[in-house]
Amino acid sequence: MNKSSSSDTQQLILTHTQVGGEAAPNPCRRNDTPDPAPEGAFFLVNKRELIPPADTNGSQPPTIIETHDPRTGEVIQFEMTKTGLYAPRYTREDSQNTRNDRWEMKWSLDKLLPDSPQTKCHRWVVPGKDVEIKKSLEYDKSFFTNLQCCGSVWGCPLCAPKITERRRVEVAEGMEISLSRGNDVMLSTFTVPHGMGDNLEAVLNSMLKKVWPKLSQGRSGQELRRLIRLLGTIRVLEVTYGHNGWHPHFHALLFLDGGLSPQEVEDAFWPLWLDGCIKAGLESPSRLHGCRVDDGTRAAQYVTKWGLDAELTKGHLKRGKKSVTPWDLLRVFTFGPEDRRIDPELQELLQALKIDQKRAGALWMTFFKAFKGKRQLYWSNGLRDLLGLKKEKTDKELAEAEMDRLAALLRTLTREEHFLVVKTKSQPMLLTLADDCPELIPDFIQSLRKKGGIQ
Ligand SMILES: [Zn+2]
Repeated sequence: MNKSSSSDTQQLILTHTQVGGEAAPNPCRRNDTPDPAPEGAFFLVNKRELIPPADTNGSQPPTIIETHDPRTGEVIQFEMTKTGLYAPRYTREDSQNTRNDRWEMKWSLDKLLPDSPQTKCHRWVVPGKDVEIKKSLEYDKSFFTNLQCCGSVWGCPLCAPKITERRRVEVAEGMEISLSRGNDVMLSTFTVPHGMGDNLEAVLNSMLKKVWPKLSQGRSGQELRRLIRLLGTIRVLEVTYGHNGWHPHFHALLFLDGGLSPQEVEDAFWPLWLDGCIKAGLESPSRLHGCRVDDGTRAAQYVTKWGLDAELTKGHLKRGKKSVTPWDLLRVFTFGPEDRRIDPELQELLQALKIDQKRAGALWMTFFKAFKGKRQLYWSNGLRDLLGLKKEKTDKELAEAEMDRLAALLRTLTREEHFLVVKTKSQPMLLTLADDCPELIPDFIQSLRKKGGIQ
């Protein structure tokens, strides 16, 4: 790592101007070639370079395992090496590029949602506080404190991954408690037929307000609960866009007192779902797709993978899908469909769906208007109490919660310095610098002053 010098300052000015174009270069490196590193030398979690596989009771350990950074929601994958130990699969630069992408997606919202809470998010300072740059000692990554968060789980690339990940951890905990008590947890999926030209907001409102309550309320809903010994549900709202237009759907984790097969549970739900759809004026769902219940293995897989579409680390998702997610749309609107940050498989799909940059923005707006204010995840009444979990936090509380008990203060920014950082959109660059060579932060801020014509 180079120490600060006048040539460094020059370098900082040069590299800074590149933020917002291609991936922001790391100012601590003097060329594009990553530092040669021995296998497993990257440090992402607890600086553990290599970790042994868990006991798999004699069966083959998985090639790839995943963990999550609870602070940012970032997925961290570990891959089995020849030595039989796991090493982090992505480099520190991948993680920093993910952060850059999120900031750029956030800035692109200025065009779609001007003057919205999202555009003020991570820009406005908490009243009476100073913005600090801190570095997590546990995750070895830098972050800002005392910035206001919008807490939008559907529309903020900075808040959503945090909220989703924190909720996912809680769902996994609830599931574990229930299973340890000998209960069953199954995964159910509920859909309605959809087609081009559907009014997404109207369909969604019917599903939420008219059809879903049929499954738990009224005489038939109560009877169903008793029949399948349903203790509670966690409902997740999702949507994709494909050849048949918008596809809003529910997944629900079913907490059951046991004794029934997934097929028996599905057969019990089906007539209520069908009846609810018909009475709500929606098209009748097919028996094959309308309602499906899978066993505990699928439920566990779902809880592990849930929220990955809000996570942006490149290449971790094997798509193989025929539809795009709202996060895909926002990425395409931000970077353009042919950008190298859009993976080739998605590019092909975009062509087939005739989605260009402008249309991606328009589709995203349709999605956001329909989903804004809706709860992404809903615990049925009494389930949290039953599982002994604390009162649920709001999305905003989750986005604002600082997880890092152990963090080093690197720098407190003055109001003027923070203003400069915001004005020049230097936040991700500053954090990268704080990750890798915090001693250069004063030089970097000085370079911003020169750039901004101050001093
Ligand atoms: Zn936000």
